[in-house]
Amino acid sequence: MIGNLKLQLIAMDGPVAVGKSSVGRLLARSLGFSFFDTGFMYRAFTWKVLRVGISPDDVSALSQLANKTRFDFVPCQEGYLSVIIDGEDVSSDILCPEVEGKVSLIARVAGVRQVMVTQQRRLAEQGKLIMAGRDIGTVVLPWAELKIFLVASVEERANRRYRELLEREEKVDYNITLADLEKRDDNDSHRVISPLKPADDAIIIDTENLSLKQVVDRIYDLVVGLNG
Ligand code: C5P
Repeated sequence: MIGNLKLQLIAMDGPVAVGKSSVGRLLARSLGFSFFDTGFMYRAFTWKVLRVGISPDDVSALSQLANKTRFDFVPCQEGYLSVIIDGEDVSSDILCPEVEGKVSLIARVAGVRQVMVTQQRRLAEQGKLIMAGRDIGTVVLPWAELKIFLVASVEERANRRYRELLEREEKVDYNITLADLEKRDDNDSHRVISPLKPADDAIIIDTENLSLKQVVDRIYDLVVGLNG
């Protein structure tokens, strides 16, 4: 751990399955920071939308529902923060195909994003935080001292996600995984509000041929450099 760390916030953005969570968790551990993946909130909210039965096209009902939703951030393991939605822990439900298929449609809605951003900024007030997502460096925390944007080809990311699902012993087909990633990349990059893109001052790290440890070490070195 680096003593007397001045830096308080790290924004980490990038496309689906680029490794934001794995990198963020390890980095948080070595810096003594917390880590929060904002994708968790969009997924938890999508889970609620599916349960309530609102169409992803009903922008006004979605915004109203977001405004009535309570999000609590709770420490889970070694600095990793989880989200409780309306008092309910839905962490085991949010990776299901139903949520996966709808989340990027619901994340397009301005009223939903507004609620998420407000909550995420509230969380960031605690400092010593790595926050991962799509718009953290551009919209949520443009004042973060370090902004990282991770990239890798869609084939490499599909491979990583495929292996991860296999490890969890889920039924999985590589081509379906690849198609899902391509669709979500397209939705996330081309939406009008807060599209997936690096902030002007973000440091882009191509993770294609790097191990998890190499990516973490590279960011750790950047933190050390900023602290000096
Ligand atoms: O990162 P993850 O794949 O869990 O995110 C799920 C979806 O949530 C993304 O595909 C994106 O549509 C949405 N999202 C977002 N902004 C964020 C984080 C996630 O729009 N900051």
